[in-house]
Amino acid sequence: MTKKVSVSLEFFPPKTPEAADKLLATARSLAVVGPEYVSVTYGAGGSTREGSLDTVRQMLSVFDSVAPHISCIGATAAQMEELLSLYAGMNISRLVALRGDLPSGYGQGGEFQRAIDLVRFIRERHAEQFLIEVAAYPEIHPQARSARDDLQFFAEKVKAGAHGAITQYFFNTDAYFRFVDDAYALGVEVPIVPGIMPITNFSQLARFSDACGAEIPRWIRQRLAGYGDDVASITAFGREVITDLCDQLLTAGVPGLHFYTMNRADPTLSILRNLKLLDS
Ligand code: FAD
Repeated sequence: MTKKVSVSLEFFPPKTPEAADKLLATARSLAVVGPEYVSVTYGAGGSTREGSLDTVRQMLSVFDSVAPHISCIGATAAQMEELLSLYAGMNISRLVALRGDLPSGYGQGGEFQRAIDLVRFIRERHAEQFLIEVAAYPEIHPQARSARDDLQFFAEKVKAGAHGAITQYFFNTDAYFRFVDDAYALGVEVPIVPGIMPITNFSQLARFSDACGAEIPRWIRQRLAGYGDDVASITAFGREVITDLCDQLLTAGVPGLHFYTMNRADPTLSILRNLKLLDS
């Protein structure tokens, strides 16, 4: 059970029955964390709808509180309402409301253009049922027309009815601290919880980071590249870097830590143990 700080854990729907079995074992190993909630991602355009629902059900068998992600781009109001009613019927009480990214080639049609549209929709129809988390980008969303506008739109999204925000992962704490200060200066009052990405695989991390605009500092990139296929060294170095990052964040009094588990238990558990946040 984690001491003092609130921890949440993110999972994605597995693609095969074998991976689903493995995820259940992962979730059981992570139950020792006693997370405030766990969240389950949702492919844009409903591409993982059934898989996400299955994973939400699976997680409900292990954890008290599960927060499904919903991405709204390309969806109709009727599709969103159907999903929200389904989750309300499952006694889900928290959602992560997102725009999502449609694969290139798809138009940007549909009744929702941005996450703020979904936040408003949920508040209008299910205000009593769901707490709403939204996404935040301390290093600026890759499609933002400017840093200033991105921050302003984030503040508007929160004020439309979000109860909290989770950030994209980052390795530079200054970007996070500045983002939080600037958001609060614009009147945002909800917790902005840092998203934490354990480092276990350099090529995968580099690919994700390029896509989502998270910057890997040169010294981390060079060190990881230098380890080549030496998984043990990558894991040990990654654990040290992320423990240090979390330590700085906790010292500054962050409201919680949200771990992108990548459906694995050990990386998150070892960081929490290093931070002395786990009893065992
Ligand atoms: P928005 O808040 O709508 O912002 C998107 C862009 O629009 C930004 O560049 C913003 O500056 C701009 N913008 C906002 N308002 C305006 C305006 N009025 N005029 C002009 N521009 C505007 N994706 C998934 O598909 N499934 C998931 O499960 C998922 N989970 C995630 C969880 C977290 C914690 C995070 C940080 C991201 C997640 N994503 C997920 C990725 C997310 O969907 C993408 O980053 C997407 O590109 C943006 O989603 P958003 O909700 O932040 O969008």
